[in-house]
Amino acid sequence: MAILTVRTVGDPVLRSECEEITVFDDDLKKLIADMLETMYEVNGVGLAGPQIGINKKIFTFGNIDGREGYIINPVLETGDEDQEGGEGCLSVPGISSDTPRKNWARVTGVDADNKPLVLEGEGLFARMLQHETDHLYGTLFIDRLVGEE
Ligand code: ZN
Repeated sequence: MAILTVRTVGDPVLRSECEEITVFDDDLKKLIADMLETMYEVNGVGLAGPQIGINKKIFTFGNIDGREGYIINPVLETGDEDQEGGEGCLSVPGISSDTPRKNWARVTGVDADNKPLVLEGEGLFARMLQHETDHLYGTLFIDRLVGEE
């Protein structure tokens, strides 16, 4: 396994929409292992492909409600109810801010063998799902701040 370099704001890879993953091979499994290792190394709860320079629809998560995992080609759904809470990002060092999010979210995608995979949760887990899916469309949490934030 290997520790990957986390890209920070200003890097164009963070601002482009990612491509779907279509090849499910051993390289993909190695990428997932490297992303998890990198995420833990930098004490993140989530890490999306573009953050390590990979323009593909994939993210990993861990240390969050006792859950760990990843998803490929996620499609996001959210509930109507809002939640309040602070948020930061490994790619936007030194900044955290209250960021509006929905309280419930679900992503539907596939695993490393191209089998269906669904993740859902509330609160912090839902916040992570929204934050990480945003990355796959070139959106950063600082884009979602309103008013004085
Ligand atoms: Zn982030």
